[in-house]
Amino acid sequence: MTTAVRAIRTNKEEAPMATSVSLQKVIKRYGELEVVHGIDLEIEPGEFAVFVGPSGCGKSTLLRMIAGLEPISGGALYLDGSRMNDVPASKRGIAMVFQSYALYPHMSVYKNLAFGLETAGMKKQEIQPRVEKAAEILQIKQLLQRKPKQLSGGQRQRVAIGRAIVREPKIFLFDEPLSNLDAELRVQMRVEIARLHQRLGNTMIYVTHDQTEAMTMADKIVVLNGGNIEQVGAPLDLYNKPRNKFVAGFIGSPK
Ligand code: ADP
Ligand code: MG
Repeated sequence: MTTAVRAIRTNKEEAPMATSVSLQKVIKRYGELEVVHGIDLEIEPGEFAVFVGPSGCGKSTLLRMIAGLEPISGGALYLDGSRMNDVPASKRGIAMVFQSYALYPHMSVYKNLAFGLETAGMKKQEIQPRVEKAAEILQIKQLLQRKPKQLSGGQRQRVAIGRAIVREPKIFLFDEPLSNLDAELRVQMRVEIARLHQRLGNTMIYVTHDQTEAMTMADKIVVLNGGNIEQVGAPLDLYNKPRNKFVAGFIGSPK
């Protein structure tokens, strides 16, 4: 598209063609307080995007708006070219993994994985292969009959990720999924999530305040600060050409 055409259209919403996630001037207000100030962002199909930024900058709020767990106050959100502003969470094809991965303590691992599908009305014969496939991907097949309290922290986190996988979402969202784990396990799970992305090929958005996670996992890093985007780019681009001191400081580049 030529610059002139683009300029004419800038005030109009445009349904994006090839992007998986598209935010157009997205605003979030809690009461009087505006916490996200009109964010434009495109995430390509299959991309692993990482949101980084200090506590309170709006990372979780953005994810929750994309997931449909929180209404957007202004602007537009598109997923695979369809406008999602008023589409309920259950119809967005998204699964989210949280830091506090509250598993049901009285249920087996199998049941924890199956439960969401059962409540959605799926038949047992359909559920079983999905659970087994997720367990195979995450290497927790031997744990299916255990209860959560019989699992290590890393195994529990795998079950939490498994609950997202069984839903076969188009898009995975992760909100600081590893921040409760110790350093060694964090490195291990980071590799696992990267492998999961390679194997499934889905679009994934991963929130962290850990620079190493961002630098090693991302195709694209989105640096947030105070409800705005400071810079978007590939890890090395941000490292080599931080737009300002904030990005340089956050990414750890010498500037
Ligand atoms: P992050 O995930 O980057 O730490 P959040 O998205 O949780 O940041 O929060 C962004 C801002 O919105 C913060 O100032 C936070 O206090 C505010 N906020 C988040 N949730 C709510 C809420 N339910 N009500 C009022 N303010 C909120
Ligand atoms: Mg958060």
